[in-house]
Amino acid sequence: MAVHGEYRHMVAAAGGDELIGEPEAARSGAGRPGSAAASAPAAEASGAEPRRIAIVGAGPAGLMAAELLASAGHVVDIYDQMPSPARKLLMAGRGGLNLTHSAPLDRFLRAYDPADPLLRRAVENFPPERLIAWANGLGCETFVGSSGRVFPRAMKASPLLRAWLARLSGLGVTFHFRRRLTAIAPGPELTFAVAQPGGTPRGEASRNVDGDKDERQSAVHANEVLAPDAVVLAMGGASWPRLGSDGNWVGILERMGVRVAPLAAGNVAVAINWSEIMRARHAGTPLKRIVVEAGGKRFPGEVVITATGLEGGPVYAAGRQIRTELAAGGEARIRIDLRPDLSLPALTERLGTRKAKQSTATHLAKAGGLSRCAIALLREAVLPDQLPEDAATLARLIKAVELRILGQAGLERAISTVGGVTFASLDQRFMLERIEGVFVAGEMLDWEAPTGGFLLQATFATAVAAATAADQWLNSKSPAASPTADADPHQPSRPGDAVLTRL
Ligand SMILES: Cc1cc2nc3c(=O)[nH]c(=O)nc-3n(C[C@H](O)[C@H](O)[C@H](O)COP(=O)(O)OP(=O)(O)OC[C@H]3O[C@@H](n4cnc5c(N)ncnc54)[C@H](O)[C@@H]3O)c2cc1C
Repeated sequence: MAVHGEYRHMVAAAGGDELIGEPEAARSGAGRPGSAAASAPAAEASGAEPRRIAIVGAGPAGLMAAELLASAGHVVDIYDQMPSPARKLLMAGRGGLNLTHSAPLDRFLRAYDPADPLLRRAVENFPPERLIAWANGLGCETFVGSSGRVFPRAMKASPLLRAWLARLSGLGVTFHFRRRLTAIAPGPELTFAVAQPGGTPRGEASRNVDGDKDERQSAVHANEVLAPDAVVLAMGGASWPRLGSDGNWVGILERMGVRVAPLAAGNVAVAINWSEIMRARHAGTPLKRIVVEAGGKRFPGEVVITATGLEGGPVYAAGRQIRTELAAGGEARIRIDLRPDLSLPALTERLGTRKAKQSTATHLAKAGGLSRCAIALLREAVLPDQLPEDAATLARLIKAVELRILGQAGLERAISTVGGVTFASLDQRFMLERIEGVFVAGEMLDWEAPTGGFLLQATFATAVAAATAADQWLNSKSPAASPTADADPHQPSRPGDAVLTRL
């Protein structure tokens, strides 16, 4: 049995842990000046035993929880099965890190469908402006794009992550890599599989964000059992599993009676059986300013034709509708409005006058204002027939090109994961009903949102809520340990209020 509040590291921290962009001081090594074991400032000042918190998962949720809890004076250790932190955040920054969105809060919250009251409250208490202020505080200037999305000026995640890791180092947070959570028990007690230096304990070679193998496959060479005072689980979903979040925690929690909604791909491309012509000539071409209609809902934006189907915001946003139809009948149908800016009568009128000898393609391009790719899509939809000549029929087709969806891409390439730890498994403090002292944050919770900055916002907001509640819960057990001791643990105040003021 592990002793509570004490860590028994059966394996010395591996040399060679590489933290991307991380200063030397933040590397694994409790006891070093500036490390958690050496500091625990608030607790030591008050003469109380320092409280040890284990955070599992070094993605944005885990790092945010670590920042808040270390700021509150706790001893914070972060465990991750990969050799370095926040690999998915770095990958997210590849295409321009969409940190959050500038929509007013009521519209913002509509992106979470359905929004559990707990999630709603977390985002209300840590809304986009607080996330932006936090990023600015790390020297990461942001701007609002034409679509309302908020990005760092640098566009990528690495400068933000570098500054963040330096801050965590200053707060004494200690990292332990190549440690995979394999069991959790009441106490709370955690068991980790530990890999040899140079490997990961996942039973497969790990890859960096470029997709290169950066670690050799490595056998687990020891187990490590810990008994921290509190735990924050932030192990992410299961998309892009090669970056670390592979959903292997599902069985661990289900064994403890925690309810987990099945994990599935969110914000993902769809499969369409294109003709050879469509594949060869138009794969990689965008269809701009269109609307995708699925399950009676309309999703505006831009999609891109791929060799195997379609990808892009509107298709991702229609994911839930498509998933439901696929589950019910084996295939789904979406409709694309190629001219959402024109009403059906206006488009019919435009197409009504056609010059003699003008080909259908030229007519559609000139009078209909359609791109070559859009015209190819129309042809594709009527195959094996020819395009209709009649203006009204053509206009109806342009306003609702029906496509048969054969399936959705898998989790390997999905931007996010739907499903996860159900909110019904949590109390009002983001603590598991089944395991006292274990809080859950980030994408491993059961919420769903489209791209647009809503994923990271919920990730950060739930981490703030869970960490704040963990701080209050710990203080309720030992009132002298930290300045937030007088909070009522059953009625968490605005998450982040107590500790965020210190950020
Ligand atoms: C290609 C791509 C682009 C994206 N772009 C954006 C974007 O622009 N804007 C946006 O809002 N969102 C974006 N996202 C989504 C966003 O990156 C995630 O929502 C976010 O990273 C979730 O954070 P998290 O901390 O909850 O989990 P993660 O970032 O997944 O971190 C979880 C961590 O837990 C570790 N872990 C898992 N299991 C174990 C275990 N058993 N033991 C120990 N450690 C474990 C993993 O190694 C990982 O480091 C993108 C995602 C992808 C894949």
